[in-house]
Amino acid sequence: MNHRATTEPEAAQHVDPRSSVDRLLRDLRSSRRGLTGRESARRQVVYGPNMLTRKGGRRWPRQILGQLTQPLALLLWLAAVLSFITGSGALAAAIVAVILINAAFAFLQERHAEHAVEALAAYLPPSARAIRDGQETLVDARLLVPGDVIVVREGDRVSADARLLEGSVEMDVSTLTGESLPVLRTAEGDSFAERLLDASDMVFSGTSCTGGEATAVVFATGMHTELGRIAALSERVGHESSPLERQVTRVARVIAIVAIVMGAAFIPVGTLLTGLPLGDTLNFAIGLLVANVPEGLLPTITLALAVGVRVLAREGALVKRISAVETLGSTSVICTDKTGTLTMNQMRAVTLWTPDGTLALEGAVPPAAPGSPAARLAAAGVACNNAHIAPDGTETGDPTELAFLHAAATLGLPNNRLGVVRLAQFHFDPVLRRMSTVDAAAGETAVHCKGAPEELLPLCDWISAPDGGREPLSERDRTHVVETVNDWAEQGLRVLAVAEKAVPGDGAAGLSRHDAERGLTLLGIIALLDPPRPEVADAVARCHAAGIRLIIVTGDHGLTARGIAARVGIGDGDIRIVSGTELDHMPEAELDALLATDREIIFARSSPEAKLRIADALRDLGHVVAMTGDGVNDAPALRRADIGVAMGRSGTDVAREASAMVLTDDDFASIVSAVRSGRRVYDNVRKFIVYIFAHATPEVVPFLLYAVAGGGIPLPLTVMQILAVDLGTETLPALALGREPEEPGTMDRPPRQRGQNVIDGPMLARAWGLLGGISAVLVTGGFLATLIAGGWHFGAPTGSGPLHGVWVQATTMTFLGIVACQIGTAFAARTQTASLAQIGIATNKLLLWGIAFEIAFSAAIVYVPPLQLVFGTAAPEPWQLLMLVPFPFIVWGSDEAVRYIRRRRARTGVELKPAAV
Ligand code: ADP
Ligand code: MG
Repeated sequence: MNHRATTEPEAAQHVDPRSSVDRLLRDLRSSRRGLTGRESARRQVVYGPNMLTRKGGRRWPRQILGQLTQPLALLLWLAAVLSFITGSGALAAAIVAVILINAAFAFLQERHAEHAVEALAAYLPPSARAIRDGQETLVDARLLVPGDVIVVREGDRVSADARLLEGSVEMDVSTLTGESLPVLRTAEGDSFAERLLDASDMVFSGTSCTGGEATAVVFATGMHTELGRIAALSERVGHESSPLERQVTRVARVIAIVAIVMGAAFIPVGTLLTGLPLGDTLNFAIGLLVANVPEGLLPTITLALAVGVRVLAREGALVKRISAVETLGSTSVICTDKTGTLTMNQMRAVTLWTPDGTLALEGAVPPAAPGSPAARLAAAGVACNNAHIAPDGTETGDPTELAFLHAAATLGLPNNRLGVVRLAQFHFDPVLRRMSTVDAAAGETAVHCKGAPEELLPLCDWISAPDGGREPLSERDRTHVVETVNDWAEQGLRVLAVAEKAVPGDGAAGLSRHDAERGLTLLGIIALLDPPRPEVADAVARCHAAGIRLIIVTGDHGLTARGIAARVGIGDGDIRIVSGTELDHMPEAELDALLATDREIIFARSSPEAKLRIADALRDLGHVVAMTGDGVNDAPALRRADIGVAMGRSGTDVAREASAMVLTDDDFASIVSAVRSGRRVYDNVRKFIVYIFAHATPEVVPFLLYAVAGGGIPLPLTVMQILAVDLGTETLPALALGREPEEPGTMDRPPRQRGQNVIDGPMLARAWGLLGGISAVLVTGGFLATLIAGGWHFGAPTGSGPLHGVWVQATTMTFLGIVACQIGTAFAARTQTASLAQIGIATNKLLLWGIAFEIAFSAAIVYVPPLQLVFGTAAPEPWQLLMLVPFPFIVWGSDEAVRYIRRRRARTGVELKPAAV
């Protein structure tokens, strides 16, 4: 079988995975007991790390080309060509330079953004369970080498190609074959399928285990895996644009069209009304075009989102898609798990009930007598358990199961499975909510089962007797157990029942789950305490202030969930509990009606499918849903939710892959911080859009003035000066606004609607009308004042002759006026509603630097002789500079006043409301 090209290091990996297992193990110089740590380290040197290497370096030409052919860039190209045709080669060169600089800038920002996301991936190295030195160890998946024996369990993502040695697993192979149904792979399968990928005794890198457990020997790693071959064939997909970027692109396109129309309309106005030569009017048309195009807007948005990604990472939320940052900001419902997200996921057994009575497990606990009901319960809980406490105290495994081990230790019983031989295991199933094992110990074979009491009780026919035997389970016993369970659950405790059944030793082998889990003897129930995380109550309060509704979707008992909900403030004492069976029988319409209310809800004893249904219904209602999950079965719901949130610590690889965001600390509060960051980033994007748009009016109005005056007033601004503003003085402050700290009240307003446009009417009114309008008046005033002071009167020629010098001074004044007004605009744009005093003048250091740069740059343009020549400027007189000083204050001040009025109105509005109700 030569399905893989062989070059030097590859030759070492070239074994035939289809040969017999013994032969394969021999070829790989390994055994069923795996490799030693030292041997694996050695092979690591030979085979290299188990990673997919990208054939990098060849992507950037295409990216740069993409930047150069963007709609806005195309518009500038048009302007350049036009100016070249009309004979102004210098202007054409300047515009081309602008396009190139802009593209380079955009390219760098995009790379930066990409790297930010890629760097995050490194935070979450996939891990693998390998047998090293005879011990199952969790290793970084990059350290797997051919010959390693790995253990594959439900929820694991396989990181190398491997041949099964023992056991069987259900695999989700959709990443490799597109096949959406899980396939069964078993050690007893065979290798002789047409495609290696279909061999039924192999598992492949990139696929994930949806059930079962198996061991397998790795035969290919890194680029030699089937996944590696596919990766080598297909290039990585590029940066997918976010809804925000798409919206802005659309707006930019509209603006471009407006610019073209305005420019085109100017040509007849110029030639017919003012009798200018066609060449000149064309030039002005180009000026209008350039003035209108919001260059640098898109890359600045990408960068703002990327910075958001980095901030989120610091707060414990790794975002895998840049666009998730903006979606987060509009989250209106958070559907959360209980265990581990709202709670600490540190379970401690607090009470135990057996037919012998109730036993507190805290404080001084007397050792349990051998054979007593408590001892039997504890022993069953240890047997039916996959957690492990090492002699040095290190704990591995599920917290629920660890609690059982600790409970046994508290009762003075062994907390390990030495001497117990497990014959079979029916793993914990979140739908059945129970787990069973068949164990042989001390010559006896028994089924041990633990799980949710409602699930276990119907399976029990017997109850343990104090003398070590069993008695029939009476109705009275059942009622008593149910009452105790409810009683404990209401205190927020997680309650599990434990049962067992003796089976004949030889009948244990082929036992089905159904046969094993019936006719059981109830040993008792145990209550586990999982305290809420201390920071959750505060985070819940913040959600409520921000208009975000919380819904708990848990596999646990409804009363337990209500106990926790009450403690963290979810539901405010009025919470609806919907049980799994209730939900199953609930028609869509009723579910919609239930979810359409503002009430907070607990979906208890819910199946993972329920999560999918809830996410779907909420989305149909127009909500933006964040949904947490950790298990394999959660993956569909995580994909369907707007923001799938996986747990970094307790979650499975599968859930992590399906989600848009991973919480490194599993903490609910991190979701809320992420929402806050999302809102901040979105607000900041709006801030620099206001800033960038505001200059359009003072740049366009002069042209209109010129046209309306029929040329009687000369052009107040040259095209080169427009370029200097758009691409020089303005860029750094715009970037700085993207890093603006959060505005007070960000989390005190309701979430924005799904699909709401980032650029809306009020925003344009503020940018073009208020800020831009005032700037236009001031700038034109400065221009005319300079002209008149120089002896100009309406209609006097300025193209040449004595007044030409005055006109150059006047355009310089326009240019400086726009810069001065933009400084005012920058401070105004820092907040949407709050006052500048509330956020502090110097809180955005970057902006201060940006403005310093803006001033220095403008000074260079008007004072340095060679630049004066290029931009057509002259050094301003002192009185002109003095005249500029109030400009920023007037622009900022008027916006500040408008915001003040708006705040006052909003406040009285709130005060009126209760009276009106
Ligand atoms: P949650 O939504 O709180 O994470 P789970 O889906 O983990 O709930 O658990 C649901 C129920 O399944 C628990 O209330 C418990 O009764 C039962 N259960 C959980 N873990 C185990 C386990 N390891 N073995 C047996 N039963 C379990
Ligand atoms: Mg759970």
